[in-house]
Amino acid sequence: MADIAAPAYRVIPIIPALKPGAMEGKGPFVASDKIQDALGFPGQLVEDWHDQAIAKMGELLGKYRSLKVYMDACVHCGACSDKCHYFIGTQDPKNMPVARQDLMRSVYRRYFTLPGKIFPKLVGARDLTRDVLDEWHNYFHQCSECRRCSVFCPYGIDTAEVTMAAREILDTVGYGQKYSNEIIGKVHKIGNNLGLPAPALKDTLEGLEEDVKEATGIDVRFPIDVKGAEVLLITPSADFFAEPHIDSLIGYAKVFHATGTSWTLSSMSSEAANFGMFIGNYEQLRTIALRIRQAALELGVKRIVVGECGHAWRVAYSFWNTLSGVGEGADETDKFAMMLQKQLDHRYKQPMHICEFTWDMIGQGALSFDKEANDKHIITFHDSCNVARGSSMGGYPGGQFDIPRNIIKAVANNFYEMNPNTTHERTFCCGGGGGLLTDDLLDLRVKGALPRMEVLQQVADEHGVNFMACICAICKAQFTKIMPIYGFDRRMIGGVHQLVSNAIRLGEK
Ligand code: SF4
Ligand code: SF4
Repeated sequence: MADIAAPAYRVIPIIPALKPGAMEGKGPFVASDKIQDALGFPGQLVEDWHDQAIAKMGELLGKYRSLKVYMDACVHCGACSDKCHYFIGTQDPKNMPVARQDLMRSVYRRYFTLPGKIFPKLVGARDLTRDVLDEWHNYFHQCSECRRCSVFCPYGIDTAEVTMAAREILDTVGYGQKYSNEIIGKVHKIGNNLGLPAPALKDTLEGLEEDVKEATGIDVRFPIDVKGAEVLLITPSADFFAEPHIDSLIGYAKVFHATGTSWTLSSMSSEAANFGMFIGNYEQLRTIALRIRQAALELGVKRIVVGECGHAWRVAYSFWNTLSGVGEGADETDKFAMMLQKQLDHRYKQPMHICEFTWDMIGQGALSFDKEANDKHIITFHDSCNVARGSSMGGYPGGQFDIPRNIIKAVANNFYEMNPNTTHERTFCCGGGGGLLTDDLLDLRVKGALPRMEVLQQVADEHGVNFMACICAICKAQFTKIMPIYGFDRRMIGGVHQLVSNAIRLGEK
């Protein structure tokens, strides 16, 4: 880490000068055979990788109509080219979204279009060689699947989906990524990304009860495996021990306590994150989601609430209904999905985000706050990509932007927005999303955080902002690590429910 330095801030807006090859060979570690085996993928690059990769590509093009449209529709207008934080930070032209897509599009043209088969050079078609495969592994793991580029594309081409397809092909031929696949293996085996076993989790929660009692004098509970509880809380496992995540977990518990809501965590399903989405693999995505269904059925809960985790909320909001039966539109041929549908209380939104829960309770007058408790914080809000561009809240367009901000304003006095070109649906990724939150990609993560750090510096200079709130476990972990490299205090990043926790009045209701 000593030799990793933050790039210099730019004068905004600016199109970065090109540095071809700047991130060549700087991709992530490759998954070992043990890690691959645990997910049912080949342990190492298979002998006939070329044919298998092309066959898989054909299968995905047939299965996902959108992928085929994205391969054909790009007119190379360049509108997306300077919108990616990794291109801005690294200046490597292959990190331009259009160039990233072209890594796959060139191969698509060669094998799946007539001109590409006959005149490959004329139409920019390439054979899938070992060098090309290595290039895929390198640059498709320099995309956080944040979808910012797609907001600016006149055709709505979603580079994240191209990245997911590439990663799916790479896994199929035995060329996976260590970090994401290792984490998925831990969820299958133990139930969470951290590999935290149930006894350790229970100890942690008991310790938290003691801490909160000491700090407030009030018995706030952190229940686990309670059959018949009303709410099952599914939250990222980082909330159980990492800083500042744990402060948000304390905030959720205080909200449940103050509103008299019976709730529980599950030791069997102690993870909201679902890295199956990052690697683009439907079976992994579903298997992880089904643990949550199993926990909900076993515990007999009536509601499922999701903690502060960006991509987990996208998976819950957009995919849980068809994956597992939580939410409208569940698969009627799936008997367990139907059992869950019958069990859940449909007077409430299923699933519900913890911010929706808290905001509802504030609206009903069930919570009260001492806003002054947050006066030491001058706050801004970082929209997390998957919440901003892959989900909603509150049942209306834009609710995912309003509700976290409404909560902050209800619990604190000082709030300032960052540059509007970098918030709401135009938000910049933290630089660590999409399965890239690993130390083998630290250089990329630091460079990818540049656009967010620049605008944070602006509000720090103009308004004295000293706290950036967010609702994503990956953003919290990423910023905690890279903010000091940009000269900020690592404690400047925290959760919305951390602010709730500071200000909430306990014991009144
Ligand atoms: S990281 Fe985000 S902006 Fe960059 S190419 Fe991937 S999806 Fe697009
Ligand atoms: S904005 Fe869309 S059409 Fe234009 S270059 Fe980018 S992906 Fe292609």
